[in-house]
Amino acid sequence: MTAPNGSLLSAPPEVRGKRVLVYSLGIEGRDLAGWLLANGATVVISDTRSDEALAAAGAHAPRGVLRLVSGEPLLDPSGYDLVAVSQSVLRYNPALQRARELGIPVTSQMRLFMQLCPGKTVGITGSSGKSTTTALVGGMAREAGIDSIVGGNIGEALLGHLSEISPDTTVILEISHTQLQYTDRSPAIAAITNITPNHLDQFSWDEYVGLKRNILTHQRRGDSAVLNADDKTSRALMASVKGRLVRASILEEQPGPGAWVERGEIVVRGDGRPQPVLPVEAIRLRGQHNLANVTMACAIASEAGIPLDAMARAIRAFTGVPHRLEVVGSVNGAAWVNDSIATSPERTIAGLRAFSEPVVLLLGGRDKNLDLDGLRELARSRCRTVVCFGESGDLFCTAMRGAVADCTRVNTLDEAVALAATRTAPGDVVLLSPAGTSFDAYPNFEVRGEAFRAVVRALPGFTEEVSP
Ligand code: ADP
Repeated sequence: MTAPNGSLLSAPPEVRGKRVLVYSLGIEGRDLAGWLLANGATVVISDTRSDEALAAAGAHAPRGVLRLVSGEPLLDPSGYDLVAVSQSVLRYNPALQRARELGIPVTSQMRLFMQLCPGKTVGITGSSGKSTTTALVGGMAREAGIDSIVGGNIGEALLGHLSEISPDTTVILEISHTQLQYTDRSPAIAAITNITPNHLDQFSWDEYVGLKRNILTHQRRGDSAVLNADDKTSRALMASVKGRLVRASILEEQPGPGAWVERGEIVVRGDGRPQPVLPVEAIRLRGQHNLANVTMACAIASEAGIPLDAMARAIRAFTGVPHRLEVVGSVNGAAWVNDSIATSPERTIAGLRAFSEPVVLLLGGRDKNLDLDGLRELARSRCRTVVCFGESGDLFCTAMRGAVADCTRVNTLDEAVALAATRTAPGDVVLLSPAGTSFDAYPNFEVRGEAFRAVVRALPGFTEEVSP
């Protein structure tokens, strides 16, 4: 039970009256600190940023915080009963290693939420496709009229929403690999969209796969694991599933429960015979990767007891999540597309594959030390022009130059848009699918995508109409 301010009527014993050290003062750290305070903890926050940097980022400690330690790392958590971390703090951080040596428990927003959530949890992780799949499953649950809530890594964190969740609520969570660093529970329905190289600047490949696997690790016999049968690394996890194994594929029929594509239709099998959901052509999202996301969403929804007609209605209505292959409009017959979320070469590859038209590709941002060979080969056949911008502009330009004849380096995203506008022909697609993160110039990919939209809309001749 929870009171409206997010405080639990009976606060969990691991929090009440405890001295808690919260790492850091980002959005998640602030939310976490606020919730801990509301539930009777004494809170100190540590953030290595200077006071000026924190003020510039609008990061203010919530009222009631005992102390803010800024401008230096607080490496020794001695004297605290609990350490609570934002997901951006990686588990091999020296302060957390010290906490473990001292026997101080480490928790996080997602860990606390999973421990305290009374509802039926559906958790969706994966290297790509998490938000699209989560948003679509949320849409299906709404269409079905069942009591449900969507959050986690998408939309809002749900720790402050525990009061809205009853044992009958279906809680649909997007969960990132960094959130899986600290969880000790698994969702009743756990789905992995795919596991492909990403974030290798932060974790080794084995560690990264291990974090994704963590969504299944604590499942029990009655739980369901929904895995992508078309993905090699996900297939390798099937042997370790403790509950019911549910498979999704866009390539072939699957044994047992699952969803797949057959003769132009998405088909779902629960416990009986396969049932058609809808024709593939009714899906409004572009690209094979989105067909995979829709098929995965059907497999998840079927496990969650959502009827087929509600699934079909939600898919027909679903136009996607902003900043994911979002069509902004057109200029002189060329479509401009915002895929700012594509922060790795593998995602840019998925984005490029969604178009058969010649592409003017905008690449840039901050590099994550990922291999560019696959992207270069695809760009060779798909791209008319590549414009590279931002911190890793030189790196991307050097990688693409041998493959695409027209490859230019500029400084900013605005300059990239201006240059791209001079290189398009009617029928082209101008695609911001940058393969790098936004952190060289923007606080996050959403702000980068909004900046892109704004400059594109200001181009002479811009219209929201796009010919099919
Ligand atoms: P996430 O939440 O995992 O970041 P999104 O659903 O937001 O994923 O999609 C982000 C981008 O990732 C898309 O615009 C597309 O470029 C790529 N993508 C999405 N789904 C897939 C998939 N199933 N396989 C490969 N790439 C994908």
